[in-house]
Amino acid sequence: ATPISTMIGVGKAAEHGVLVRSGDALQTASHLTTLVVDKTGTLTEGRPRVTEAKVLAGDEREALALVAALERGSEHPLAAALMAHAEARGAEAGEIRDFDTVTGGGVRATDAEGRALLLGNARLLEEAGVDLAAGREIADELERQARTVVHLAVGGRLSAVFGVSDPLRGDTVEAVARLQADGLRVVMLTGDNTHTAAAIAAEVGIDEVRAGLLPEDKHGEIERRQRDGEVVGMVGDGINDAPALARADVGFAIGQGTDVAIESAGITLVRGSLHGVADAIEISRATLANIK
Ligand code: ADP
Ligand code: MG
Repeated sequence: ATPISTMIGVGKAAEHGVLVRSGDALQTASHLTTLVVDKTGTLTEGRPRVTEAKVLAGDEREALALVAALERGSEHPLAAALMAHAEARGAEAGEIRDFDTVTGGGVRATDAEGRALLLGNARLLEEAGVDLAAGREIADELERQARTVVHLAVGGRLSAVFGVSDPLRGDTVEAVARLQADGLRVVMLTGDNTHTAAAIAAEVGIDEVRAGLLPEDKHGEIERRQRDGEVVGMVGDGINDAPALARADVGFAIGQGTDVAIESAGITLVRGSLHGVADAIEISRATLANIK
């Protein structure tokens, strides 16, 4: 496109709350074949709440004190939800040491009595050899209801299971349908487990899902599709999404997301809505059509 028509397109996008860093990003948007979308904080509000809590072994007060102590040191959105749940029940964070976060898994530490503590997804606990059988039925049911399941293990034993709900953004379903009507292949990427991911994808109307991904897997998924000839846009909000946003042909950052995500993306969606992606693509196509 000519510099002038591109400038007009950039201005038009801005009117829709879509901030385009460069004319190149806007031009490439018209060629996108595929849009990969992060789940948490992008399709969903990213404000999770604990909706179910089941203590399987030990005392509830103690379990919640350990949860509060573990999540105090984490910046993950799930941590805020679990902290709020523990605090609302009057739990006082206990003493822990050797705190550590495991990317894509959860958090770990040791309590005052020297017991190993693990809080996170099934993969994290299974890799540590914790038997999840006692919580399996509850966890399966929660996942069918699109909950993210968080497990607590104390001293190698499963102690509690929490269901966390993160509602879809109000316009996610409509915006995804619009993108699909625009001819885009929409793919959901998430670090969450397969069953929860599938339940949410079904609600949204997305049929391609990749779950259980680590941040580098999101990046790898984009590269693989690019090698296969797809022109890939990526929408994300988190620190974890930054490498994938930078790798995509066009990165779209959610405006309320982290600064790192915004810095890695060519386009920022100020209103936090996926409609902004469709706006950018439609404006980009119109801009190119004008100069043909
Ligand atoms: P995403 O944002 O795509 O869901 P993450 O890589 O941030 O993926 O997290 C993947 C999974 O790891 C989460 O769904 C959760 O099960 C687990 N997890 C990560 N951090 C924590 C934490 N602080 N507390 C509990 N679970 C966690
Ligand atoms: Mg996210």
